Amino acid sequence: MRHPILAMAFATCLATAAHAADDHGGVVTPKPYTTGTTLTKSVQASITPDKALAILKEGNARFAANKPLRRNLKAQVQSTALGQFPFASVVACIDSRSGPERVFDQGIGDLFVARVAGNTVNEDILGSLEYASKVAGSRLIVVLGHTSCGAIKGACDDVKMGNLTSLLARFKPAVAAASTPGERNSHNHALVDEVTELNVKQVVQRIRNESPILKNLEDEGKIRIVGALYDTSSGKVRWY
Ligand SMILES: [Zn+2]
Repeated sequence: MRHPILAMAFATCLATAAHAADDHGGVVTPKPYTTGTTLTKSVQASITPDKALAILKEGNARFAANKPLRRNLKAQVQSTALGQFPFASVVACIDSRSGPERVFDQGIGDLFVARVAGNTVNEDILGSLEYASKVAGSRLIVVLGHTSCGAIKGACDDVKMGNLTSLLARFKPAVAAASTPGERNSHNHALVDEVTELNVKQVVQRIRNESPILKNLEDEGKIRIVGALYDTSSGKVRWY
């Protein structure tokens, strides 16, 4: 095949065919994960919950060191066109600085992401997580809070505004549980930090309490549910 464009098209067809066979065959043979690889069903099958956590830790280390992987995103778009097999799910804030794919240095098809101010959950997000883990095979759920969170500050200040009022009410238990001395508002940075951490831990627990499906998967060792905090000044993620 001398024509370069024809040769390229042929190679693309082969790649797509190989991917389809890998993803839709009856018996899935686990295939080892290599850093930056595009996930297939076989690769996903080889990733344990602990391995999923390790992949995210390595990705955040690359991001914090300003050494992200160089990915061929177009190739990833093409090879995930027929299906997705993400290894982890992240519940994150809408904050513009803490986008999970970026701060964990992941590519197309790697993560399910649910984002809402204050990285909380409701029935819709729990349903999304149940789909991600029970149906689509995601091995890990991360509740990712972050420093300097406007939603948490708003809750500390008891802000009331439109639909935000009911959203901020979700953080009241964390505010109530905080024991940091001093002012009970967002000027007290130690209080904001404590409420942020408490909220992450409470959301992790709420996922277990409010989703029997996810609780069972965790009890069976098929998934893990963990909390994490993204530091907006260092780019590093701390794990709980
Ligand atoms: Zn936030």
